[in-house]
Amino acid sequence: MANPVDIEEPREIVIRSKKYPEERLANLLDGALRFIFPIFNPASARFLIRLPIFEMRRILQKHPYLAVVHITNRCNGNCLHCVYKVGLRETRREPTIDEWEAFFLELYRQGVRAVNLWGGEPTLRMDVLRLAARIFPLLLTITNGTNRIGEWFKGRIFLSIDGPPEVNDYLRGKGAFERAIRHYQGDKRVIINSVVTHETLPFIDEIPDIAKELGVLGVVYNVECFRKGDNSRFLTPEEYEKIEEKLLKLSELPNVYMSKPLIRKMMHPENRNNRKCYYGSSVLHYQSDFTPRHCYSDYVQCGQCRVIPAGAGNPILAGIRSTKVIRMYLP
Ligand code: SF4
Repeated sequence: MANPVDIEEPREIVIRSKKYPEERLANLLDGALRFIFPIFNPASARFLIRLPIFEMRRILQKHPYLAVVHITNRCNGNCLHCVYKVGLRETRREPTIDEWEAFFLELYRQGVRAVNLWGGEPTLRMDVLRLAARIFPLLLTITNGTNRIGEWFKGRIFLSIDGPPEVNDYLRGKGAFERAIRHYQGDKRVIINSVVTHETLPFIDEIPDIAKELGVLGVVYNVECFRKGDNSRFLTPEEYEKIEEKLLKLSELPNVYMSKPLIRKMMHPENRNNRKCYYGSSVLHYQSDFTPRHCYSDYVQCGQCRVIPAGAGNPILAGIRSTKVIRMYLP
């Protein structure tokens, strides 16, 4: 297993290549976009401008432009509440970087422009993260903070911190809090992704202050909502009610990147038409050996799903409802 702290950055001088269409586009547009959309990085601005076209193509030609790709099944953590731990830590073949390049270019050719790079722990394949950063304009990833992702990654980094140090380290392992802080202090690409569980519920009000002290952009909350084979971790209806109440209050803080409609949709799967869930029906999902899968986990049940994407839904409608949701997705 790779050392959790000292993953070596691929040291490569990035020369914009003719091979990757987004890099060609970037050469032409970046300066102008920095001027017109100063709060977004140019790649996000390029994506935002073209978003209505991507949506039209999705509706008319059924071409998804978002993909969630698990780039490795390996992880260097052993979190108590990990939804992937049960069943998904099976060993999968790890494709080579050349195979990843062919796969990403094919996704691009089919119209994908935004990729959500998940794991396992995605930073264990820093080479794949770097490759994706050269091909797609919009990137999101989620990390446990054990390795620093270099400045070449212009996307959104969701950093897992679930509570103050003692609570976080109880769930995520000794030293996890300190390592996350050491690697991402002051990094504005970062939004803390905080999972609400039995253990963290009493402390969720403290996370926005932790984000401020850490100097990162802000916070989003996800709710532990399913787990194969271990019912002890399911939250009770009373706890869900308490969470909803607290999240609605917290969403009024400027550094909590969640809107009230998003929270209500997240917390009430019974009121959603889950068969039409944007994330399930209009987003491509791939395992780390390129096999497709239904949604973010094989063990997920839509009727119990209380994750942000199920609440955010269509990105255009979500953006119209709340600029905070745009900011959450676009660095
Ligand atoms: S699991 Fe959640 S996000 Fe996925 S399709 Fe079902 S409701 Fe949507």
